[in-house]
Amino acid sequence: MAEINKAPRGTNDLLPEDSYKWQFVEQKLIETAGLYGFREIRTPVFEHTEVFTKNVGDTTDVVQKEMYTFTDKGDRSITLRPEFTAGVIRSVVEHSLTAAALPVKVCYCGGCYRYEKPQAGRLREFHQFGVECIGAASPAADAEVIALGSQLLRDIGVKKISLEINSIGCPTCRAEYHKALKAYFEEKKDRLCGTCNERLERNPMRILDCKSPVCSEIAKDAPVVIDFLCEECADHFSKVKAHLDGMGISYKVNPRIVRGLDYYTRTVFEFVSGDIGAQATVCGGGRYDGLLEQMGGQAQPALGFAMGIERLLMVLESQQAELPEPRPCDIYIAPMGDAATLKAGVLCAALRDEGFEALTDIVGRGLKAQMRYANKIGARFTLVLGDNELESGKARLKCMENGEEQEIALDAIADAIYEATFTKMAEEFGM
Ligand code: ATP
Ligand code: MG
Repeated sequence: MAEINKAPRGTNDLLPEDSYKWQFVEQKLIETAGLYGFREIRTPVFEHTEVFTKNVGDTTDVVQKEMYTFTDKGDRSITLRPEFTAGVIRSVVEHSLTAAALPVKVCYCGGCYRYEKPQAGRLREFHQFGVECIGAASPAADAEVIALGSQLLRDIGVKKISLEINSIGCPTCRAEYHKALKAYFEEKKDRLCGTCNERLERNPMRILDCKSPVCSEIAKDAPVVIDFLCEECADHFSKVKAHLDGMGISYKVNPRIVRGLDYYTRTVFEFVSGDIGAQATVCGGGRYDGLLEQMGGQAQPALGFAMGIERLLMVLESQQAELPEPRPCDIYIAPMGDAATLKAGVLCAALRDEGFEALTDIVGRGLKAQMRYANKIGARFTLVLGDNELESGKARLKCMENGEEQEIALDAIADAIYEATFTKMAEEFGM
């Protein structure tokens, strides 16, 4: 019974004391992506199950083990999105967004759902920010998307993170690679897990990101796809690297990156942090040139990435990055008596119209308790309103930071706060 008073395993409540961090991060991400022309898209939290089984791939861990799938009352199979790309591309195709100017650049932010074993940096409800760029085949597009990932992390306040890139080729070069992989794993078949034995026939590359310790040990010495790239794919990859070099973005080629989703082609990349333990990948992405056509749209080259917000915040915390403080309450008006309470409500309404956070007593506290409350919430200014003040139309505005008081007219509270704010700013900037 106690269970129902707790959030489900692998989920987190975001409490008011922390939500400002999320607001800052989400706003900053969307704003910076905007500098590259990305505009926000919002798609449903759930999709028809086939959107994921067909496109993420039915031999991936995500589809085989991690999806929240249920039958709705209309007997449809529905799945909570385990990732955004498949749903976003479904939407892009459904609304023919590619019929307008190309490339289509969209970004998104929201919750994802995967039935995983919860641990640090691995949740069942987690949040992603990501971008998708559709209709751009050139290596410059890969470099631009990677550059955006890099700038986002920097702008948010990440001080240190490494970029690893790889190319996993196109279906042509991958056919040769699959043969080599099959030959390699065939000999060790008996030691592979059940799921990987099945993958050996259908999609041997998926064995490379199996989480079972035995399979990953065996996979360590498997052939790498980068040795099998066709001429076009090799050329594309070297141009991507040349662009990154030109932009001064440092990276490491890691031939072991394959990514956990089936739709990737050519460039794949990850931003990996050494500061947050085993779940080290903060952002992962790559090219998926076949996905639009596979989803019934017009063939379009495309690429994108997704960033885990929880892991990003873990990095910021471990690197002690400074996030902007939440805005404090501007003024607390403490009324004494019924007439003053009425007037305080009117004054607060006017101050809020001016854009100030203005609070007053709605609990029925005495003056002392009200002042304790104002202190607790960190109000910048307080103002006591009693019969005398109502009569004279004047009151004492107290700055809580330095204790200074000034007498002001009740209809000039906003002006006084503005002025005090500017004076303080001027002092801080030495003007
Ligand atoms: P991992 O190898 O850690 O399982 P993944 O390859 O499954 O990651 P993607 O599908 O590429 O992850 O998702 C992109 C990003 O979303 C990851 O790099 C990570 O930051 C975040 N992410 C993925 N799964 C989770 C999860 N269960 N909990 C928290 N964040 C996650
Ligand atoms: Mg995973």
